[in-house]
Amino acid sequence: MYNTEIINNLKYRLQDILTDKKVETDVDILDKYSCDETSDLRFMPDLLVRAESVEDVRNTLKICNELNVSVTPRGAGTGVTGGSVPVSGGVILSTEKMNRILEIDRDNMIAVVEPGVITFDLQQKALHEGLMYPPDPASLETCSIGGNVAENAGGPKAVKYGITKDYILGLEIVLADGTVVNTGGRTVKNVTGYNLTGIILGSEGTLAVITKIYLRLIPSPAASRDILIPFNSIERAVEAVTSILKHRIIPATIEFMEKDAIDLVSKHMDGTIPYADAGAHLLIQVDGQSDDEVYSLINRISVAVDIVQEKILVADSISQSNRIWKARRSIREAIVKTSPIFLAEDCVVPRAVIHFFLKSLKEFFILKGLYSVMFGHAGDGNVHIDVLKKDMEYSEWKKLLPDLKKQIYRRAIDLGGTITGEHGVGYLRKDYLTMALSAEEIALQQRIKKAFDPKSILNPGKIFPFSSEA
Ligand SMILES: Cc1cc2nc3c(=O)[nH]c(=O)nc-3n(C[C@H](O)[C@H](O)[C@H](O)COP(=O)(O)OP(=O)(O)OC[C@H]3O[C@@H](n4cnc5c(N)ncnc54)[C@H](O)[C@@H]3O)c2cc1C
Repeated sequence: MYNTEIINNLKYRLQDILTDKKVETDVDILDKYSCDETSDLRFMPDLLVRAESVEDVRNTLKICNELNVSVTPRGAGTGVTGGSVPVSGGVILSTEKMNRILEIDRDNMIAVVEPGVITFDLQQKALHEGLMYPPDPASLETCSIGGNVAENAGGPKAVKYGITKDYILGLEIVLADGTVVNTGGRTVKNVTGYNLTGIILGSEGTLAVITKIYLRLIPSPAASRDILIPFNSIERAVEAVTSILKHRIIPATIEFMEKDAIDLVSKHMDGTIPYADAGAHLLIQVDGQSDDEVYSLINRISVAVDIVQEKILVADSISQSNRIWKARRSIREAIVKTSPIFLAEDCVVPRAVIHFFLKSLKEFFILKGLYSVMFGHAGDGNVHIDVLKKDMEYSEWKKLLPDLKKQIYRRAIDLGGTITGEHGVGYLRKDYLTMALSAEEIALQQRIKKAFDPKSILNPGKIFPFSSEA
C-alpha cells in the first residue's frame, strides 16, 4: 500500500533511532503479525517495531506521523475482530516486550504495569499478595493488559466484579504525533477535567498507544466453588439465572452452553463431559470469605432454581473444577476443529431475554441450513453466536456473511441490546456500526478521533465504516 521509497526511508529512520533489533523487516516474521485470532483475515504489514519503552513508542509514532504511514498497535494478537491486523499495511507497533509489572502497591491496593503484561501473570502476582485483579477474559493466559484496556475486555466474572473499565484508574498514553499524556492516576476518585481514561478504554488502538496502566486491585476471596447445573432447555436455564439474582445471590460467574454447544464439545471430548445429554448447562462459580459462606450460597441457589441437590455437580477439588470448566473452555477448539472458517459474534442483550434471542436465531439458522453453536455469559446477557462454514463453498459463504451478520445484529438491537459486548467493532463489524449508533453519535466519535489523531494514522480501517475525513 506504500511505495518502496517511503518504506525504505521509514525503515532507515526507525533503525537509526531505535536500533536494528527493534525494527523487523523479515517477511516470515512479518507474516506472523499479519493476523490475530480472527477467522479468515490476513493483511501484511510493511514493518514491525517491537517497542521496549515509552521512548520507543514515542519515536515510532512521531516519525510515522511525519511520513503519513499508518500504525497498528498490537498486544498479544488474541483479538477476534481483526483489531491488530494491519489492514492498510504500514507499521505494526508491538508492545509484547513492554511486559514488566512495575509495582504492586499493597497499601493502596493498586498495580502499575506495562501494556504487554499477560493478564494471567498479573492475576497470579496480585494473588500472591492476597489481592485480586478480577477481569478474566477466557484468553487470559495469552492476552495482554494493554489489549484488554484497548478492547475494554470482559469475562465470566463480569456478573459480580465488572469488566476491565471498572479497574483502570489511570493511563500513560502516546498520541499519534508522539506526545506523551497521563490520564487519571493512582487514586480511586478523580474528577479533575474530562475522563480521558474512559475515552481510551475500548478505543481499539485508534486514539493512542497505551504505555503504562494503573489498576485497582481488591482483596481476593478466601473460598470459592464451581458448580454445574443441567437443564432440559435454555428457557429453563435463563429463568434460573433470573431467579438466582432475584434471590439476591450474585455468583462470581454464570456461564451457559446451549444444546448444540454441549453436543459439539461432548463429541470433541469423546463424551467425557458431565451431563452430556442436557438441553443446557449453567456453569456457576460462587465465592466468599469462608467455605461455610460458599456452601450456604450453593444451598440458596438450589432453592432459587428449584432443583434437587443431587442434580448439582459441586466441584470440591481443583481437578473437578477443571473438569467442569473444560467443556466451556474447549468450545473454540471444538469449533476450529470442525470448521476452521466460522463466524463468531458476541452480541449482548438484556439478561432476561437471552432465550428469545437464541430461539429466534436458532430458527433462522435452521431455516437457512446453517450449523450454529451458542454459549456465553448468562449473568450479563453477552451471547457468543458461532456459525460454522463447514463444507459450504467459500464463495457462497462470503456472499452469505453480510446478511447473516445483519440478521443477528437486528435481532439483538430489537431486543434492547447491541452488536458487541466485549470483542469490539474492529475490522469485522465496522460496516454495521450504523445499525447500532446514530449518524450524530458516529460523527461525535469521529470528532474525538480527529482530536487525538488528526492525520488518521492510528489503526485506520477500524471501528468506523468510513474514514474520519469523511
Ligand atoms: C480463545 C479466546 C477467548 C477469548 N475470550 C475473551 C473473553 O472472554 N472476553 C473478551 O473480552 N475477549 C476475549 N477474547 C478476545 C481477546 O483475547 C481480547 O480482546 C483481548 O483483550 C485482546 O488482547 P491482546 O493483548 O491479544 O490484544 P490484540 O489482539 O493484540 O489487540 C486488540 C486491540 O487492542 C489494540 N491494542 C493492543 N495493545 C494496545 C496498546 N498498548 N495501546 C493501544 N491499543 C492497543 C489493538 O490495536 C487492537 O485493536 C478471546 C479471544 C480468544 C482467542
